[in-house]
Amino acid sequence: MQHRARKRFGQNFLIDRDVIARIVETVSPLPEDLLIEIGPGQAAMTHPLADSGAEMVLLEIDRDLAARLRTDFAAYPNVSIHEGDALKEDLGALAGNRPFRLLGNLPYNISTPLLFHALQWSDHIRDMHFMLQQEVVQRLAAVPGSKAWGRLSIMCQYRCAVAPLFDVPPTAFSPVPRVTSSVVRLVPHASPPVQVDDPAGFERVVKQAFSQRRKTLRNSLRSLVDAAAMEAAGIDPGARPETLGLGEFAVLSRLLAEQ
Ligand code: SAM
Repeated sequence: MQHRARKRFGQNFLIDRDVIARIVETVSPLPEDLLIEIGPGQAAMTHPLADSGAEMVLLEIDRDLAARLRTDFAAYPNVSIHEGDALKEDLGALAGNRPFRLLGNLPYNISTPLLFHALQWSDHIRDMHFMLQQEVVQRLAAVPGSKAWGRLSIMCQYRCAVAPLFDVPPTAFSPVPRVTSSVVRLVPHASPPVQVDDPAGFERVVKQAFSQRRKTLRNSLRSLVDAAAMEAAGIDPGARPETLGLGEFAVLSRLLAEQ
């Protein structure tokens, strides 16, 4: 039976064989790998990935698709299906606390919260490959001072090396989305690029600073970091958050801890 794409689950299924082959080649799974795929859908990427012999955990929210995956992969001892909401799943537990690789052609409506969710397990993740809206990949890979630089760029680059790989046109999907997509690789750093003693405080200052991007640090961080302390640490309280790099946010998180 033909599956009718559900908009609420961000279902745009990959149908372009060349794009699928390119993604599979990019991931190049080995038989000893453990892969978690978010939103396998109709298994466009899953079949060729599973044929590598790698162990795969498929995490799918759509009950009908999960049922179909159970049938399709019944004969695959290396594939297990988990029906659930990726945003709520403990990915580390799903992987049995083993190191894993994460991938998915992510539902666009929840891709940003999913990325933040996945970053919680970056210590256990070997790498991540995601298909995202091109604009999200631009934000992931942005540099300080650019329009795309923000909370997502900073939190991802603090945890991972970001490599945009290639663009995918809307025609590669059915139904056809309105936007261009891109595939990105995120590789968690062995040690973070900047020294942060309190990662939760770092996240807090970044979130607060970008909660109102047009405000100066003096105003947006008023309740967290003293402007005089900022100035003494070499950060202009009159600056806007998008001009600051990872190192400066690390300094702000140190000031937060000291206060
Ligand atoms: N991987 C398939 C492909 O490339 O053709 C499907 C990609 S489609 C863009 C997104 C998939 O994620 C759909 O199968 C959808 O049902 C699933 N999905 C949506 N929200 C989800 C969630 N919160 N947790 C797990 N899967 C989800």
